[in-house]
Amino acid sequence: MIVVKIGGAAGISHDALCADAAALIARGLRLVLVHGGSDATTTLARQLAHEPQFITSPSGHTSRRTDPRTLEIFQMACRGIVNQSLVLALVRQGVRAVGISGVDASLWRGTRKAAIRAIVDGRTRLIRDDYSGTVDHVDPTLINTLLDAGFTPVISPPALSEAREPINVDADRAAARTAAALDAENLLLLSNIPGLLRAFPDESSLIQSVPIERLDEAESLAQGRMKNKVLAAREALLAGVRRVVIGDARADTPISRAFEGAGTVFA
Ligand code: ADP
Repeated sequence: MIVVKIGGAAGISHDALCADAAALIARGLRLVLVHGGSDATTTLARQLAHEPQFITSPSGHTSRRTDPRTLEIFQMACRGIVNQSLVLALVRQGVRAVGISGVDASLWRGTRKAAIRAIVDGRTRLIRDDYSGTVDHVDPTLINTLLDAGFTPVISPPALSEAREPINVDADRAAARTAAALDAENLLLLSNIPGLLRAFPDESSLIQSVPIERLDEAESLAQGRMKNKVLAAREALLAGVRRVVIGDARADTPISRAFEGAGTVFA
C-alpha cells in the first residue's frame, strides 16, 4: 500500500504520473492518490474576479484566506478541475479510478479554526468567517472498500468540520493522516522539486535522507509551503508510517522513482 500525494505546481504531467501509477497497479500494488488544489484555486479565483488573499499569523505562517466565496471556488478547483483531470488521466491508462473528496462518507474529519489571528497593516486582527482547518481523523472504510473491489481512490479536499461544513485543509498533512489510518508503509509527497533542498532553490543541494531524530533540523531548512511537507513527514512517521519520501513529480516515472528512494527519504 502506497499513499501518493500529487502536487499542483506547474511542470507536472498528469499523463506521465498516471502511466506510472497504472504500471504499479498492474504489478499488484495498492495505490491511493491524494491531491490539493492551491494553484488551481488561485487561477480560478482570478478568473472569477475574487482576488486570492493570503494571511500571515503572528508566528509568521502564511495561509490562504478562505472566506465563504473562496471556499466555493476552492471546492470547484479541487473537485471539478484537479480531481477530474487526474481521474481522467488514470482512466485513459486503464485504471479503474474513482474520484472522491474528504467529505464523502465523512472520510476526512477535522477541526475548523473558529477564529484566526492575522497580521493586517502591522496589527493583529481576529478573523471569524474563515473556513480552514486541519484533518484530525480519517475513516479508512470507504478507501478500503474501493481498494478491495479493485478500484483506485483519488482523494481531494475539502474535509468535514465538527459542524459538518466543508473546510480547506492542507493536502500534504491530510495525506499523512490517511497513510497512517490505512497502515500504509510508504507515503510519497511529489512536487516540482527534487526533494528537500539544503540551499533552496539550488537543486544540487538535495538532502537524501532525514533520520527521525534530525527532523527539527530539516524543518528549519524548509521555507514557505515546503514546511507543511516536512510537518506531514513528521506526523506520518510518528503515526507509524515506515517511510516518507519527498520526491520529484516531474520525472518520467515519478512514483516508481520516489518509491525506489529518489528524493529526500524520511525514516
Ligand atoms: P505542491 O503544490 O507541489 O504540493 P508546494 O508549492 O506546496 O508544492 O511546495 C513545494 C515548494 O516549496 C517548492 O516548489 C519550493 O518553491 C518551496 N520550497 C521552500 N523551501 C524549500 C526547500 N528547502 N527545498 C525545496 N523546496 C522548497
